[in-house]
Amino acid sequence: MASTKSDTKVETQAVPAAEPVPVVEAKPAQPAAPMLQSSAGEALQKYSLCAHCQSRLHFAYLTDFSRNLTEETARCPECHKQSHRVMHRLQ
Ligand SMILES: [Zn+2]
Repeated sequence: MASTKSDTKVETQAVPAAEPVPVVEAKPAQPAAPMLQSSAGEALQKYSLCAHCQSRLHFAYLTDFSRNLTEETARCPECHKQSHRVMHRLQ
């Protein structure tokens, strides 16, 4: 008597599938284009021109660190008139 032993042991080993790496799509940063308004440009031009002779003003800044103030003075090189004097407060 021959007994055929078919000992087939099938091991079903569940191979863990590699987890899919979640792909995070990086959105390209929107370039924030600074919109310069024409009115602002005109104001700036007025600001930097002498009110008397329309020549370009010379700006001078004097910073007082003890008081955290910057004094801005605009002077006309042509008629030597001081156009304005603005105090800027530093942070
Ligand atoms: Zn002037």
